[in-house]
Amino acid sequence: MNSTFQKGFEKLGKCQISGCPKKGEHRHHRFPNTKVNRALYGSLMDDRRNVQTLCMDDHLNGYGETWSEEEFCEAVGVPVQSKSGQMRAMREASCADQA
Ligand SMILES: [Zn+2]
Repeated sequence: MNSTFQKGFEKLGKCQISGCPKKGEHRHHRFPNTKVNRALYGSLMDDRRNVQTLCMDDHLNGYGETWSEEEFCEAVGVPVQSKSGQMRAMREASCADQA
């Protein structure tokens, strides 16, 4: 794990919904920023890969991307932490092994 992880808020650019000309005002977490998720992944929740910059309208309308825990873990390169996520990963792995 590298320790140069950037904390804090960068200047927000343009809304990242394609075709939207407005400026980004909200930070949307692709993998939801819930208490449970933050307890499992801490500041990784704020990794730039998990954060999408949206204008206020697109954020309120729910147009941001949504990631599952597995998608999030793959994107930021960490193992799945939650019990249910581990169970799913194990099931998939054992299916693949039974060839
Ligand atoms: Zn927008």
